[in-house]
Amino acid sequence: MKVLNLRCANGHGFEGWFASEDDFLDQNGRAAVECPLCADRVVTRLPSAPRLNLSGARAPQPVPSASGPAPAAAPPAAQPPVAADLQAAWLAAARRLVETTEDVGTRFPEEARRIHYGEAEPRGIRGRATPEEREALREEGIAVVAMPLPEGLEGPLQ
Ligand SMILES: [Zn+2]
Repeated sequence: MKVLNLRCANGHGFEGWFASEDDFLDQNGRAAVECPLCADRVVTRLPSAPRLNLSGARAPQPVPSASGPAPAAAPPAAQPPVAADLQAAWLAAARRLVETTEDVGTRFPEEARRIHYGEAEPRGIRGRATPEEREALREEGIAVVAMPLPEGLEGPLQ
């Protein structure tokens, strides 16, 4: 299982899960990889540098205003100045994703299949799936993108 950092032509960064790098190249060559935010299919793989910033965001970090403990994984004083911008952009993207998709929770794999096989209204959905479930969906040809959402983001929006 490979988690690749990808970016669409509109500049949205997101993660894609693939069996291997060749698998990504194959799927992307068939335009089978699309941006979860704007459905753009001109997807490029990011070099490793931004991955560091994204991986920081993957940890269940509280929103800055929370009075929780400081993020333990923050590197000491070595953060490039763009990190805060990336974090903000990522938060905005996550927020937009939440606003434009329907939360189906743990029914995600089931709902993704129903949509894929035309048994349910085509729409953007989000929910929870294990890596194994994502892999199974992917093997059925269903495009699934894993994206971490910050804790508590959904609360105020509902
Ligand atoms: Zn996009």
